[in-house]
Amino acid sequence: MKTVTTLAELRAARAALDGTVGFVPTMGYLHAGHISLVQLAKQQCGAVVVSIFVNPAQFAPNEDLSAYPRDIPRDLQMLEDAGVDLVWLPTPEVMYPPGFQTWIDLETITQPLEGGMRPGHFRGVATVVAKLFNAVAPHKAYFGQKDAQQVAVIQRMVLDLNFPLEIVVGPTQREADGLALSSRNKYLNEAERAAAPVLHRALQAAQAAYAAGERNGEALRSLMQRTIEHEPLARVQYVSCAHPLTLQELDTITEGALLSLAVYFGKTRLIDNVILD
Ligand code: AMP
Repeated sequence: MKTVTTLAELRAARAALDGTVGFVPTMGYLHAGHISLVQLAKQQCGAVVVSIFVNPAQFAPNEDLSAYPRDIPRDLQMLEDAGVDLVWLPTPEVMYPPGFQTWIDLETITQPLEGGMRPGHFRGVATVVAKLFNAVAPHKAYFGQKDAQQVAVIQRMVLDLNFPLEIVVGPTQREADGLALSSRNKYLNEAERAAAPVLHRALQAAQAAYAAGERNGEALRSLMQRTIEHEPLARVQYVSCAHPLTLQELDTITEGALLSLAVYFGKTRLIDNVILD
Protein backbone atom coordinates (compact mmCIF):
# COMPACT_ATOMS: atom_id res chain seq x y z
CA MET A 1 0.00 0.00 0.00
CA LYS A 2 1.33 3.41 -0.99
CA THR A 3 0.60 6.51 1.10
CA VAL A 4 0.88 9.99 -0.46
CA THR A 5 0.23 13.58 0.62
CA THR A 6 0.97 16.07 -2.17
CA LEU A 7 -1.03 16.39 -5.37
CA ALA A 8 2.05 15.59 -7.46
CA GLU A 9 2.63 12.33 -5.55
CA LEU A 10 -1.05 11.44 -5.83
CA ARG A 11 -1.08 12.02 -9.59
CA ALA A 12 2.05 9.95 -10.14
CA ALA A 13 0.74 7.08 -7.99
CA ARG A 14 -2.69 7.25 -9.66
CA ALA A 15 -1.12 7.07 -13.12
CA ALA A 16 0.63 3.85 -12.11
CA LEU A 17 -2.67 2.08 -11.21
CA ASP A 18 -4.04 -0.37 -13.77
CA GLY A 19 -7.62 -1.24 -14.64
CA THR A 20 -10.80 0.02 -13.00
CA VAL A 21 -10.06 2.36 -10.10
CA GLY A 22 -12.45 2.46 -7.14
CA PHE A 23 -12.35 5.38 -4.71
CA VAL A 24 -13.57 5.62 -1.10
CA PRO A 25 -13.44 9.15 0.39
CA THR A 26 -13.37 9.26 4.20
CA MET A 27 -12.65 11.54 7.14
CA GLY A 28 -10.69 8.79 8.90
CA TYR A 29 -11.13 7.24 12.34
CA LEU A 30 -12.19 4.24 10.34
CA HIS A 31 -14.64 1.53 11.37
CA ALA A 32 -16.28 -1.47 9.75
CA GLY A 33 -18.66 0.82 7.81
CA HIS A 34 -15.75 2.39 5.92
CA ILE A 35 -14.09 -1.00 5.45
CA SER A 36 -17.32 -2.44 3.97
CA LEU A 37 -17.06 0.24 1.24
CA VAL A 38 -13.42 -0.72 0.65
CA GLN A 39 -14.44 -4.37 0.34
CA LEU A 40 -17.19 -3.49 -2.15
CA ALA A 41 -14.65 -1.49 -4.17
CA LYS A 42 -12.18 -4.42 -4.06
CA GLN A 43 -14.86 -6.75 -5.43
CA GLN A 44 -15.71 -4.40 -8.31
CA CYS A 45 -12.38 -2.76 -9.22
CA GLY A 46 -8.78 -3.60 -10.06
CA ALA A 47 -7.35 -0.99 -7.68
CA VAL A 48 -8.71 0.85 -4.64
CA VAL A 49 -7.82 4.39 -3.55
CA VAL A 50 -8.90 5.79 -0.15
CA SER A 51 -8.61 9.40 0.97
CA ILE A 52 -8.54 10.57 4.57
CA PHE A 53 -9.29 14.25 5.02
CA VAL A 54 -11.20 15.92 7.85
CA ASN A 55 -12.73 18.62 5.69
CA PRO A 56 -12.92 21.92 7.62
CA ALA A 57 -15.37 23.39 5.10
CA GLN A 58 -18.17 20.97 6.05
CA PHE A 59 -18.05 21.84 9.75
CA ALA A 60 -19.84 24.94 11.05
CA PRO A 61 -17.93 27.10 13.58
CA ASN A 62 -20.00 25.59 16.43
CA GLU A 63 -19.39 21.99 15.30
CA ASP A 64 -16.82 19.40 16.32
CA LEU A 65 -13.97 19.98 13.81
CA SER A 66 -11.15 20.24 16.35
CA ALA A 67 -12.58 17.44 18.48
CA TYR A 68 -13.25 15.15 15.49
CA PRO A 69 -11.51 11.85 16.35
CA ARG A 70 -8.30 11.07 14.50
CA ASP A 71 -5.96 8.04 14.51
CA ILE A 72 -3.99 7.90 11.27
CA PRO A 73 -1.61 5.00 12.22
CA ARG A 74 -4.58 2.81 13.11
CA ASP A 75 -6.47 3.87 9.94
CA LEU A 76 -3.47 3.01 7.74
CA GLN A 77 -3.13 -0.42 9.35
CA MET A 78 -6.84 -1.13 8.73
CA LEU A 79 -6.55 -0.03 5.09
CA GLU A 80 -3.42 -2.11 4.56
CA ASP A 81 -5.17 -5.15 6.06
CA ALA A 82 -8.15 -4.52 3.75
CA GLY A 83 -5.87 -4.60 0.69
CA VAL A 84 -6.06 -0.93 -0.35
CA ASP A 85 -3.57 0.10 -3.05
CA LEU A 86 -3.23 3.84 -2.48
CA VAL A 87 -4.08 6.18 0.42
CA TRP A 88 -4.15 9.94 -0.05
CA LEU A 89 -3.81 12.17 3.02
CA PRO A 90 -4.14 15.67 1.58
CA THR A 91 -3.29 18.66 3.76
CA PRO A 92 -5.78 21.54 4.13
CA GLU A 93 -3.37 23.65 2.00
CA VAL A 94 -3.77 21.21 -0.91
CA MET A 95 -7.56 21.25 -0.72
CA TYR A 96 -7.93 24.97 0.09
CA PRO A 97 -4.97 26.88 -1.35
CA PRO A 98 -4.49 30.48 -0.18
CA GLY A 99 -7.10 32.74 -1.79
CA PHE A 100 -9.51 29.83 -2.37
CA GLN A 101 -12.89 31.03 -3.68
CA THR A 102 -14.43 28.36 -5.92
CA TRP A 103 -17.34 26.57 -4.26
CA ILE A 104 -19.94 24.09 -5.44
CA ASP A 105 -23.44 24.92 -4.27
CA LEU A 106 -26.40 22.69 -5.00
CA GLU A 107 -29.71 24.49 -4.80
CA THR A 108 -32.88 22.85 -3.43
CA ILE A 109 -31.55 19.38 -2.57
CA THR A 110 -29.30 20.82 0.15
CA GLN A 111 -32.07 22.83 1.85
CA PRO A 112 -33.96 20.21 3.94
CA LEU A 113 -32.81 17.63 6.54
CA GLU A 114 -29.07 17.75 7.26
CA GLY A 115 -28.67 20.83 5.04
CA GLY A 116 -31.41 22.62 6.95
CA MET A 117 -29.79 21.89 10.32
CA ARG A 118 -26.22 22.38 9.13
CA PRO A 119 -26.15 25.41 6.78
CA GLY A 120 -23.12 25.31 4.49
CA HIS A 121 -22.41 21.65 5.26
CA PHE A 122 -23.14 20.35 1.76
CA ARG A 123 -21.33 23.25 0.13
CA GLY A 124 -18.23 21.97 1.92
CA VAL A 125 -19.00 18.33 1.09
CA ALA A 126 -19.73 18.92 -2.62
CA THR A 127 -16.67 21.12 -3.07
CA VAL A 128 -14.25 18.72 -1.42
CA VAL A 129 -15.72 15.65 -3.15
CA ALA A 130 -15.50 17.37 -6.55
CA LYS A 131 -11.84 18.20 -5.85
CA LEU A 132 -11.15 14.63 -4.72
CA PHE A 133 -12.84 13.28 -7.88
CA ASN A 134 -10.77 15.62 -10.07
CA ALA A 135 -7.52 14.53 -8.47
CA VAL A 136 -8.16 10.77 -8.13
CA ALA A 137 -10.11 10.37 -11.39
CA PRO A 138 -11.78 7.12 -10.28
CA HIS A 139 -14.09 4.98 -12.42
CA LYS A 140 -16.31 4.26 -9.42
CA ALA A 141 -16.73 6.09 -6.11
CA TYR A 142 -18.22 4.49 -3.00
CA PHE A 143 -20.49 6.16 -0.46
CA GLY A 144 -22.48 4.80 2.50
CA GLN A 145 -26.29 4.81 2.66
CA LYS A 146 -25.76 5.94 6.28
CA ASP A 147 -25.42 9.49 4.91
CA ALA A 148 -28.46 9.39 2.63
CA GLN A 149 -28.63 13.08 1.78
CA GLN A 150 -24.91 13.11 1.02
CA VAL A 151 -25.53 10.30 -1.49
CA ALA A 152 -28.37 12.27 -3.12
CA VAL A 153 -26.26 15.45 -3.26
CA ILE A 154 -23.21 13.70 -4.76
CA GLN A 155 -25.32 11.81 -7.30
CA ARG A 156 -26.94 15.10 -8.36
CA MET A 157 -23.54 16.82 -8.62
CA VAL A 158 -22.09 13.97 -10.73
CA LEU A 159 -25.02 14.33 -13.16
CA ASP A 160 -24.95 18.13 -13.20
CA LEU A 161 -21.18 18.46 -13.70
CA ASN A 162 -20.78 15.39 -15.97
CA PHE A 163 -18.20 13.65 -13.82
CA PRO A 164 -17.20 10.53 -15.80
CA LEU A 165 -17.69 8.08 -12.96
CA GLU A 166 -20.27 5.84 -11.31
CA ILE A 167 -21.48 6.30 -7.73
CA VAL A 168 -21.91 3.03 -5.82
CA VAL A 169 -23.87 3.07 -2.55
CA GLY A 170 -23.02 0.55 0.20
CA PRO A 171 -25.52 -0.54 2.89
CA THR A 172 -25.36 0.91 6.43
CA GLN A 173 -23.26 -1.26 8.74
CA ARG A 174 -24.62 -1.60 12.27
CA GLU A 175 -23.68 -2.84 15.73
CA ALA A 176 -25.50 -5.98 16.91
CA ASP A 177 -28.09 -3.79 18.71
CA GLY A 178 -28.87 -1.81 15.56
CA LEU A 179 -26.83 1.34 16.19
CA ALA A 180 -25.33 2.51 12.88
CA LEU A 181 -21.53 2.56 13.00
CA SER A 182 -20.21 6.11 13.14
CA SER A 183 -16.95 7.78 14.14
CA ARG A 184 -19.08 9.96 16.45
CA ASN A 185 -20.33 6.97 18.51
CA LYS A 186 -17.05 7.34 20.42
CA TYR A 187 -18.43 10.51 22.06
CA LEU A 188 -21.31 8.63 23.75
CA ASN A 189 -21.01 7.83 27.45
CA GLU A 190 -22.18 4.44 28.66
CA ALA A 191 -25.79 5.45 29.31
CA GLU A 192 -26.05 7.31 25.99
CA ARG A 193 -24.55 4.35 24.15
CA ALA A 194 -27.18 2.09 25.74
CA ALA A 195 -29.92 4.52 24.66
CA ALA A 196 -28.68 5.16 21.10
CA PRO A 197 -30.25 2.09 19.40
CA VAL A 198 -33.58 3.92 19.76
CA LEU A 199 -32.81 5.56 16.39
CA HIS A 200 -32.91 2.21 14.66
CA ARG A 201 -35.93 1.07 16.67
CA ALA A 202 -37.85 4.18 15.58
CA LEU A 203 -37.00 3.51 11.93
CA GLN A 204 -38.01 -0.13 12.33
CA ALA A 205 -41.32 0.85 13.95
CA ALA A 206 -42.10 3.09 10.97
CA GLN A 207 -40.99 0.37 8.56
CA ALA A 208 -43.31 -2.11 10.27
CA ALA A 209 -46.23 0.35 10.12
CA TYR A 210 -45.54 0.87 6.41
CA ALA A 211 -45.45 -2.93 5.88
CA ALA A 212 -48.80 -3.15 7.69
CA GLY A 213 -50.30 -0.68 5.20
CA GLU A 214 -49.74 2.78 6.74
CA ARG A 215 -49.20 5.28 3.91
CA ASN A 216 -49.66 8.57 5.74
CA GLY A 217 -46.38 10.48 6.00
CA GLU A 218 -47.39 12.40 9.10
CA ALA A 219 -48.41 9.16 10.86
CA LEU A 220 -44.97 7.65 10.21
CA ARG A 221 -43.14 10.82 11.31
CA SER A 222 -45.22 10.94 14.47
CA LEU A 223 -44.57 7.26 15.22
CA MET A 224 -40.80 7.81 14.95
CA GLN A 225 -41.01 10.95 17.10
CA ARG A 226 -43.00 9.16 19.84
CA THR A 227 -40.68 6.14 19.81
CA ILE A 228 -37.67 8.38 20.41
CA GLU A 229 -39.43 10.46 23.05
CA HIS A 230 -39.77 7.28 25.12
CA GLU A 231 -36.00 7.41 25.58
CA PRO A 232 -35.21 10.08 28.20
CA LEU A 233 -31.59 10.64 27.07
CA ALA A 234 -32.62 11.27 23.45
CA ARG A 235 -33.59 14.67 22.03
CA VAL A 236 -35.11 14.62 18.54
CA GLN A 237 -33.85 17.23 16.08
CA TYR A 238 -35.88 16.06 13.09
CA VAL A 239 -37.79 13.07 11.78
CA SER A 240 -38.59 12.82 8.09
CA CYS A 241 -40.38 10.72 5.46
CA ALA A 242 -39.18 12.19 2.19
CA HIS A 243 -38.87 11.55 -1.50
CA PRO A 244 -35.53 9.74 -2.00
CA LEU A 245 -34.27 12.07 -4.77
CA THR A 246 -35.81 15.48 -4.08
CA LEU A 247 -35.84 14.98 -0.27
CA GLN A 248 -39.16 16.84 -0.07
CA GLU A 249 -41.46 15.66 2.74
CA LEU A 250 -44.21 13.30 1.59
CA ASP A 251 -47.87 13.42 2.69
CA THR A 252 -48.50 10.04 1.10
CA ILE A 253 -45.70 7.53 1.26
CA THR A 254 -44.67 5.61 -1.82
CA GLU A 255 -42.17 2.77 -2.19
CA GLY A 256 -38.55 3.93 -2.05
CA ALA A 257 -39.30 6.77 0.36
CA LEU A 258 -36.48 7.79 2.70
CA LEU A 259 -37.15 7.67 6.46
CA SER A 260 -34.47 9.63 8.28
CA LEU A 261 -33.81 11.27 11.61
CA ALA A 262 -31.30 13.22 13.65
CA VAL A 263 -31.19 12.82 17.42
CA TYR A 264 -29.00 14.33 20.13
CA PHE A 265 -27.62 12.37 23.08
CA GLY A 266 -26.03 15.05 25.22
CA LYS A 267 -23.83 16.98 22.80
CA THR A 268 -23.53 14.09 20.36
CA ARG A 269 -25.69 14.26 17.27
CA LEU A 270 -26.48 10.95 15.54
CA ILE A 271 -28.27 10.36 12.23
CA ASP A 272 -29.76 7.25 10.69
CA ASN A 273 -32.13 6.30 7.88
CA VAL A 274 -33.80 3.48 5.96
CA ILE A 275 -35.38 3.24 2.53
CA LEU A 276 -38.92 1.80 2.48
CA ASP A 277 -39.22 -1.20 0.17
P1 AMP B 1 -16.99 9.71 6.95
O1 AMP B 1 -15.60 9.27 7.30
O2 AMP B 1 -17.91 9.80 8.12
O3 AMP B 1 -17.02 10.91 6.05
O4 AMP B 1 -17.59 8.52 6.07
C1 AMP B 1 -16.95 8.09 4.89
C2 AMP B 1 -17.87 7.20 4.12
O5 AMP B 1 -18.23 6.07 4.93
C3 AMP B 1 -19.18 7.90 3.76
O6 AMP B 1 -19.56 7.52 2.43
C4 AMP B 1 -20.14 7.36 4.78
O7 AMP B 1 -21.49 7.36 4.32
C5 AMP B 1 -19.63 5.94 4.94
N1 AMP B 1 -20.10 5.37 6.21
C6 AMP B 1 -20.04 5.95 7.44
N2 AMP B 1 -20.64 5.16 8.36
C7 AMP B 1 -21.10 4.07 7.68
C8 AMP B 1 -21.81 2.89 8.07
N3 AMP B 1 -22.18 2.69 9.34
N4 AMP B 1 -22.11 2.00 7.11
C9 AMP B 1 -21.74 2.19 5.82
N5 AMP B 1 -21.06 3.28 5.39
C10 AMP B 1 -20.75 4.21 6.31
